[in-house]
Parts: sequence; structure tokens; C-alpha cells
Amino acid sequence: MARDYYGILGVAKNANEQELKRAYRKLAREYHPDVNQGEDAHEKFKEISQAYEVLNDPEKRRIVDAGGDPLEQRGAGGFSGQGFGGMGDIFDAFFGAGMGGGGGRREPRGRVQAGADSLLRTRLTLEECAAGVQKRIVAETAILCDVCTGAGTRSGSKPERCGTCGGAGEVQSIQRSFLGNVMTSRMCPTCRGAGEVIADPCHKCGGDGRVRSRREITANIPPGIASGMRVRLAAQGEVGPGGGPAGDLYIEVLEAPHDVFVRDGDDLHCTIRIPMVDAALGTTVVIDTILDGPVELTIAPGTQPGSVSHLRGHGMPKLRSSIRGDVHAHLEVVIPSKLDGKSADLVRDLKARLHEKAEVVSSSSAHSGGLFSRLRASFSR
Ligand SMILES: [Zn+2]
Ligand SMILES: [Zn+2]
Repeated sequence: MARDYYGILGVAKNANEQELKRAYRKLAREYHPDVNQGEDAHEKFKEISQAYEVLNDPEKRRIVDAGGDPLEQRGAGGFSGQGFGGMGDIFDAFFGAGMGGGGGRREPRGRVQAGADSLLRTRLTLEECAAGVQKRIVAETAILCDVCTGAGTRSGSKPERCGTCGGAGEVQSIQRSFLGNVMTSRMCPTCRGAGEVIADPCHKCGGDGRVRSRREITANIPPGIASGMRVRLAAQGEVGPGGGPAGDLYIEVLEAPHDVFVRDGDDLHCTIRIPMVDAALGTTVVIDTILDGPVELTIAPGTQPGSVSHLRGHGMPKLRSSIRGDVHAHLEVVIPSKLDGKSADLVRDLKARLHEKAEVVSSSSAHSGGLFSRLRASFSR
């Protein structure tokens, strides 16, 4: 059955934030366990704190107004039984925001904690990105101390309960306030919240259970990897404090520029310079591809400057797939800048045969490589 949270605080169903806070403060002053030593004061304080927590949260209050009980979903008794953990809002109501902290009795944090992930970068050639590679990489991370195997103690000794906090990981102090005396807690300065201290620490790690180490590891880089992608090596990152489980090691790839090819995803682009006569008559060009060695590219007779020829399936592999990209060869046609007398005569003969004349073309003419079509292409990009 849904609890009557409004009734517990003694406020109307349309009570605003101020009225809630006022009602809660009034009741809390009366029942706070540090003030009221009565038998059921503790229970009563919990009850009103719950009611305030619920009604002060718009989401939870909506559930109450709809006839439900937001604390029911949390399992046995909501946060009753959990002490006063997570009551930041409530302590804010007393002290104003920023002074909350404290209140709850927390479990000691423990000496052993999970380690952090670690990131390394490695530079690969285009060939390595294409074929995949077993890359040797020097990693510098914390590893488990081999003398104490993470225990942090000198052989034979054991961690002891912290004398400052008695193993709780936090220390309490009494503060005077309008409620009377209020207990606040903070992290124990001696054990830093662990609850135990090492009186006789391991000589190698000083009690941390881990040491810094430089080591060579082998990373399996898959074919098709590209700049910015990361390979994860599970549990090869930092070992945690107290010898806690290691985080992961990530290796980020940076692809070095290639002498011939420019990569665009799985495709490769290159530029091929061919003599004017080869463009006119057609020819074959051998391209030294990244993965397949020399491959012949056929240049058709009458190939125009700026056109692109393709070697389908000779580009980069798609990551974790057998699909391959293409090689796109961008053709530059070279006009001889100097002709000897005989050559000039031959070209003049050719001119006489072809009867071709220079002309001004219309701007809509889609002549490939034409100035305006190129300009248009760059504007519409
Ligand atoms: Zn050690
Ligand atoms: Zn302590």
C-alpha cells in the first residue's frame, strides 16, 4: 500500500518547495537521533526523511500523486536499513547546498581497486594498415608487484585495521548546529578511506601492490585499420591500487602519409602522368599496388586530361571483411614543352590532317576537365 508521504510531513497536497522544507526541518529538529533519544525517534526520523526525499523530487512526487509509491520499486523498505547514505538533498536542506557531504556511514572504500585504461599511439605505414601487422610496442603501465603479488605487505605480515578510524575508512566529528549536535564524517586521513593500513610495507612497491614497468607487447593490428581507430588489448592497462584488476590497453593507429597513394576509406587515389601521344593512342601503365604487386592499367585511346581510370578491387581491405576498395588513377596528360625540328614537322602534319581549330566553348558545355565544369563542381560541393 502506498504510504501517505504528505501526511507524514503534515503538509497539504499542493505544498510548495518552501513549505516542504519548513515542515521537514520542524519535524527533523524534533526527531533527529542526536537530539531525541526516544525509542522510536530513529524510525520516525527515517520516515520523515524518506517523505521529504520523495516529495522534494518532482519525478517521485508525480508517482505519489498518481497513487503510487516510488520507494516500493527499490525493494525491501527503500533506503531504510541502508543507514543514511545518499541523503545529500536532505542535508542540503539543513546546511544549504555545498555543505552536504557527510551524513552517511559509508563502507570503507577498500585498499584494492580496479585499474585505469591506458592509451598508446602507434604510427603505421599504409602497407601495414592494408595487410595487418603484429606490432611490437613499448607499453609503460603499472603492473602487479612481483615481490608481494599485490598484497603490499612484507612477506609474512598482514594489513592491520586503521587505528585512526577503527577500520571504518572515515572519521566522525560533532558539529554544533541549530539541531543540536550533528555528526559529520570525512575520509580518514591515515588510511585514505581504506580502513586498513600496512605497517610493514613491501620494500619494492611501498605497499601499493603495483610498480611501474616498461615492457614490450605485441599488438595484433587487423587488415583495413585506419587512422584514429583503436585496438583493445584486454587487461593490459594499468593495474589498480592494491594490485587491483588491470584496465584495458588501447592502441590508437596513426597512418603515415604514403609516397604514391592517398587513402579515402577503402579506396586509394593516385596520379598518373602520361605523354600526349599515349593519351591519344592508348597505352598500358603498370601500377605498383599496395597488396597485389604490379597491376596493369589500360589507358583507352583518346583519354582526356583529368579523367580517372580504375583498378576495381585493388584498394584497401574493408575491416573484418573480404571486400576490397578500388584504386582510382587520376590522369595528367603531358604536352611536350619543346619539340625539335623533325617532331614539330610531324605535329604540323597531324594538324593539317585533323583540321582542328581552337574554339571558345559555351559555359554549359560539359566537356570534361573544362574550366567552368570544374568551377561548377567546386561550387556545388
Ligand atoms: Zn610489493
Ligand atoms: Zn583509517
